[in-house]
Amino acid sequence: MLKLHNSLTNKNDEFKEIEKGIVKMYTCGPTVYYYQHIGNMRAYIFMDSLRRVLKYNGYKIKGVMNVTDVGHLTSDEDSGEDKMLLASKRENKRPEEIAKYYADIFFNDLKKLNIDIPENITYATKFIPQMIEFIKGLEKKGYTYKIDDGIYFDVQKFPSYGQLSHKDLEKTGNARIEENVNKHHPFDFALWKFVAPNHIMKWDSPWGEGCPGWHIECSAMGKTLLGDNFDIHTGGIDHKTVHHEDEIAQNDALAGHRVVNYWMHNEFLLVDGGKMSKSLGNIYTLSDLEKKGFSAMDFKYFCLNTHYSKKLNFTFEGLKASSNGYKSLKNLIREHKNGNAKTDSASLQKYEAEFLNAINDDLNIPLAIGVMFTMLKDLDFSKDVYNLALKFDKALGLELDKEEKENKNTIPNEIVELAKLRLNARRNKDYKKSDEIRDEILKRGFIIKDTKDGFEIEKKN
Ligand code: AMP
Ligand code: ZN
Repeated sequence: MLKLHNSLTNKNDEFKEIEKGIVKMYTCGPTVYYYQHIGNMRAYIFMDSLRRVLKYNGYKIKGVMNVTDVGHLTSDEDSGEDKMLLASKRENKRPEEIAKYYADIFFNDLKKLNIDIPENITYATKFIPQMIEFIKGLEKKGYTYKIDDGIYFDVQKFPSYGQLSHKDLEKTGNARIEENVNKHHPFDFALWKFVAPNHIMKWDSPWGEGCPGWHIECSAMGKTLLGDNFDIHTGGIDHKTVHHEDEIAQNDALAGHRVVNYWMHNEFLLVDGGKMSKSLGNIYTLSDLEKKGFSAMDFKYFCLNTHYSKKLNFTFEGLKASSNGYKSLKNLIREHKNGNAKTDSASLQKYEAEFLNAINDDLNIPLAIGVMFTMLKDLDFSKDVYNLALKFDKALGLELDKEEKENKNTIPNEIVELAKLRLNARRNKDYKKSDEIRDEILKRGFIIKDTKDGFEIEKKN
């Protein structure tokens, strides 16, 4: 029996699909005005585990993940600046160019992480008419009102508002001070925002030119592709209190019944014990880790060893330990691949059952990896064990059968040391020596580039 933690009931509920054998699932995707960091990647690694475990149990999946390529505001609520526009100004590019650039990098990262990508990837800008229809539907049912800067959802008309995060409409103590004072209730949120005439991203609507509220994107895309009742909705824990409450309000108000059966949330990845932030300079992307010699898979293995619902603290020491663990796992797999022993089926069945119990207990992947490790260590080297480990890998997505590729971004230590010597020489204005070292580095197959803060090294193609 597959059990999943449902944020709606706050329990591990038995999973029962709506349509036999099929799981309809929506994942909140990235906002592509900047790089997605390794914390964001944890959310997609969680989605990957869920998709894989469902498939391991024989389900087919109809998955949707959105890409937010319209601007949304710098806060979850409706205040702040439009992030896409900020990026557009910062990089002097059109919003479409910004979105394409960061979306390409994002999908490349998912590929490196061997993430099982949802069947439907939906770009918000392609669903504006559906969003407008959705808002019109809510308007017709009396859930909306208009004020100076947009069309708003009236949460007081939806008394069960707050069911995910147990927010009480009477207790608005946490509501932010800079709220729009014209709103009827602090929790009311924008469905459609009017924008200034010189705004670049805007669309026509029955209410005037503007752009959609952020939450309506997910509701409209979910409804269009998955219908008025679907199985699972996932996202990071930060989305639980506002974005997902607002999605539920919109969905259920329009449909007149509960739309999503299971809401699932991954906990945060912390860095050095805290939030990643620009001011601390600790926002890492996958490519930052690669530059330090780690592979995307090292990071995935690092994440998979902590349950998705627990906070995970990222440190480079922790990542190093995971990288070593991942290497020993692959070494053991290789030994079994080349092994000649025969394994009795009772032993295999025992491990198979333990593995299934672990993954079906709300995706206890850390335990499942432990079961696999024990199996690999305790049984004599045999192809039967190898084959079972590969079956397990369908649920883990760790590319256990792939020979370790040389990470093209890994720069050997001796090259880094040479580069440091060269930097010193340059700083001492000993250009003859610095050129000699550069040539030596080139001879060994690497190119060194000077940067503002030091140097960058690349492998010669
Ligand atoms: P965003 O592009 O900000 O909407 O984030 C994309 C996804 O990453 C969402 O599901 C977020 O909840 C999730 N997320 C953001 N930061 C973190 C973090 N530090 N750890 C885990 N998940 C995160
Ligand atoms: Zn969403």
